[in-house]
Amino acid sequence: MQTIPAQTEQPLSAESTSHPRGLYLLFATEMWERFSYYGMRAVLVLFLTKAMMMDKAFASKFYGGYTSLVYLTPLIGGFISDRYWGNRRSILTGGLLMALGQFTLFFSASNYGPESTHALSHWLLYLGLGVMIVGNGFFKPNISSMVGSLYSPADKRKDAAYTIFYMGINLGSFIGNTITSLIGDTGNPADFRWAFLACGIAMLLGTVVFNWGKDKYLRTPEGVQVGETPAISGGIMGVYALLPVLLAIILGILWLDSAKFPTIAPLLGVAVLGITYMIFSDKSLSGADVKGIMVIFIVSFFVVFFWAAFEQAPASLTFFADEQMNRTIFGFTLPASIFQNLNAIFVVVGAPLMAMVWTALGRRGAEPPSPLKMAMGLAFLAAGYLVMCFGVHNLQPGVKVSMFFLVALYFLHSVGELCLSPIGLSLVNKLAPVKFASLLMAVWFLANAAANYLAGYMSSLYPDPKSTAPAPVLLGFHITNLYDFFMVFVVSAAVAAGILFLISGKLAKMMDARNYPAPVPQV
Ligand code: GLN
Repeated sequence: MQTIPAQTEQPLSAESTSHPRGLYLLFATEMWERFSYYGMRAVLVLFLTKAMMMDKAFASKFYGGYTSLVYLTPLIGGFISDRYWGNRRSILTGGLLMALGQFTLFFSASNYGPESTHALSHWLLYLGLGVMIVGNGFFKPNISSMVGSLYSPADKRKDAAYTIFYMGINLGSFIGNTITSLIGDTGNPADFRWAFLACGIAMLLGTVVFNWGKDKYLRTPEGVQVGETPAISGGIMGVYALLPVLLAIILGILWLDSAKFPTIAPLLGVAVLGITYMIFSDKSLSGADVKGIMVIFIVSFFVVFFWAAFEQAPASLTFFADEQMNRTIFGFTLPASIFQNLNAIFVVVGAPLMAMVWTALGRRGAEPPSPLKMAMGLAFLAAGYLVMCFGVHNLQPGVKVSMFFLVALYFLHSVGELCLSPIGLSLVNKLAPVKFASLLMAVWFLANAAANYLAGYMSSLYPDPKSTAPAPVLLGFHITNLYDFFMVFVVSAAVAAGILFLISGKLAKMMDARNYPAPVPQV
């Protein structure tokens, strides 16, 4: 390996407002990866319903199963990275696997059609998604934690670094979503494959960029390489041998859950119970530690309601945009999948504004405590669906709704995301005792996994006007039309916001019991 003198990049003075070049390398890598993830996800349900001819309910559950597993495998990837592989190997392997998965989807989407090839296309779909789930498990937790490793623990630039990184995420999502919508969601189902091909190329690009710059730029302020294989690591090759086993297990779970019986929900339950036991059976935790950990568990529970409603974007909200919304502007009909992009645009523009709002409030001593900000996030989410309810109230068959309502929904959801997502991760970082830092981050990921699963289930209740089946029922409530459907999210998010609001003072006090250094916002 080529040795670069430490002083080529570092150190930057603690006062410096510029950032190490390593941050921009991670920014670029994550941007291409998010291009691939969100770009693919934007057209996935449309591909499933329009090319693979799955019904909406099945496609929704399948989407939920896939995205749920995407958030479950980081538990395994984080564990393997800490003990065997280190961040760099994990990111490279994860990136290559995800590119491979996208190319497999490209072959799947190139072979759908007459019955003889349909089965092949079906299995390639499962295989592609399975490979991507495994790859993401290695990639996602490692790239996020590497951002912080480029700085010394007390470096004030860390907050800004995570904001820049978060913008990279959303920039990637924006570019990816735009390209895949335009080249894949054309009205001709044969074109979906181009979206997957573009995502594969993007992921490959991200991996190549990372590999090119990693030795040169990924260093601590002292010039020490970060994310290398742990010094006492053995078993590196053994982990490669385990990859096919992991893939087989993931494929089995994905298939069982979508085609046979719910498998992922009990798996999530077991994971939650296992982690709860591991943490709370530790006798060395102080009373203040336990209080902080309980706050993480409680807010993670509320966060499930947020993402379950928020992640309707590529599922039921895309069905809505496709079938029930007027998408024509200046004589040009926009693809249904392109509207999810609004979230990325609002986040890129809104993230710095939001940071300014918190700072301004902080100067007056009026910055809300994190649980209250998260309650506000849920309230914005409920408001987004409420606007949509006005749009679809008493909607006559065949009448299409103005796109204003979906634009307003995405705006309010993005404001909510900015109140909840970076704040929540920062809270986990702040409250987790060092020995349980990764495991408690896993609790956050698990909340995402459960939420995405629930998102798929909720989307499967989307009222299909063409269906002759009886109206779906949720907890005794009949969902007969779009108003009922969107009202479910208004009520669930508003109730969750209300309860979190009421207990936020108590949670803030429990957090005060800990006297930890300043939070490190993450995404
Ligand atoms: N949009 C962020 C990302 O893609 C956060 C997503 C989430 O936590 N569900 O990383």
